[in-house]
Amino acid sequence: MARYFQPEIETASREKILEIQNEKIVKQVKHVYENVEYYRNLMDEKGVKPEDIKSVDDIKKLPFLTKADLREAYPYGLLGTDIKNCVRIQSTSGTTGKRVVAFYTQHDIDIWEECCARAIVAVGGTEEDVCQVCYGYGLFTGGPGLNGGSHKVGCLTLPMSSGNTDRQIQFMMDLGSTIICCTPSYAAYIGETLAEKGYKPEDNKLKAGIFGAEPWTEEMRRNIEKSLGIKAYDIYGLTETSGPGVSFECEEQTGMHINEDHFYAEIIDPDTGEVLPEGSKGELVFTSLDKEGFPLLRYRTRDICVLSREKCSCGRTHVKMSKPMGRSDDMLIIRGVNVFPSQIETVLLNEGYTPNYQIVVDRVNNSDTLDINVELTPEQFSDKVSDTQERERKLEGAMRTMLGIGPKVHLLPPKSVVRSEGKAVRVIDNRKLHD
Ligand code: ADP
Ligand code: ZN
Repeated sequence: MARYFQPEIETASREKILEIQNEKIVKQVKHVYENVEYYRNLMDEKGVKPEDIKSVDDIKKLPFLTKADLREAYPYGLLGTDIKNCVRIQSTSGTTGKRVVAFYTQHDIDIWEECCARAIVAVGGTEEDVCQVCYGYGLFTGGPGLNGGSHKVGCLTLPMSSGNTDRQIQFMMDLGSTIICCTPSYAAYIGETLAEKGYKPEDNKLKAGIFGAEPWTEEMRRNIEKSLGIKAYDIYGLTETSGPGVSFECEEQTGMHINEDHFYAEIIDPDTGEVLPEGSKGELVFTSLDKEGFPLLRYRTRDICVLSREKCSCGRTHVKMSKPMGRSDDMLIIRGVNVFPSQIETVLLNEGYTPNYQIVVDRVNNSDTLDINVELTPEQFSDKVSDTQERERKLEGAMRTMLGIGPKVHLLPPKSVVRSEGKAVRVIDNRKLHD
């Protein structure tokens, strides 16, 4: 039976959620207008006054914020309250450029940790659980967010941080961890290392994993579930809105419930900025309804997904977002064709390969090249050159069907692709070097 961390709000009626959102947005916009000069200027330029925002329906009148704004306003330009009220900063991993710094009051941290606690309870977490947090700690939000959530649930928390995989496994086995939190790529690596050490999936006490911070496919989910002998759940978030826990998967594993009492979500057309009707695929935009330290309104995440209000069997009423399959700026344009790294991952795992791969894009004689380096398992590894070539051709064919363009596949010996302990770097785009 489904359990909730905050049942009243997690299962509240649509009307109730709207009532909460409407009340919060009016206050929040007024507060931001009065306290954040940078955003006040944007609102003035657009001719919008706080009085124009009477409910969440009016949010579409507000100007957008983008990563470029955050960089321009760095470090204090979007601070929502006095520094004396703030107790912490966190920072983005800088996956796509200069880091962004976000500020938190104690109230912001409490809410963030509650959101993470909702995620842990949704995967079956209780105070009986031993929760191993192997997201990075420090500036990155993954470790601190899940750590706080785990405390709020009352789990015995193992603040491992990422890396030192031998120690992760030793603690997991010795202390009987039941829940593990890390990036999906690190989970796959831990699963692989467990097998190498001779452990079977049933040898560990894990029951669930909470994986996020990077895109991962359904095929990757199955790979991890098999290698660790668990159910693998998705969690989503970004530093700009707090961190992990903006949304999380429930037992249904069909998308992540957005914590709508704190975040208002819109889907827009990334080219025109127009708000799209429910069920459309587009760029996710968040308005934080009650953050004090870093109260971003209409922040463009660049993450592409779909929202759904279909009834969920878990009893939660909050809107669900589909897995973002990469940011709009992760998309590679190769010889004019749009290619998402996740499509490549899907083909690889479906064809029986491991998630140890790297994508290399380059430009030779003014034409784009796409090379995919794929590692073989020791079992797949064969000294017979003809076998390898045949496998490569077959994989190239499967890729061409999925992507619409033909890559060059290189099958490599075991352990040739570097493993990830945090967010995996899957793409090396050398074209940027020539620009
Ligand atoms: P950076 O932008 O430097 O990576 P963050 O650490 O704040 O900074 O990462 C937030 C981003 O990570 C999101 O905008 C999204 O692109 C990605 N992300 C987070 N969780 C998920 C998830 N569950 N699935 C896919 N992508 C995710
Ligand atoms: Zn649900």
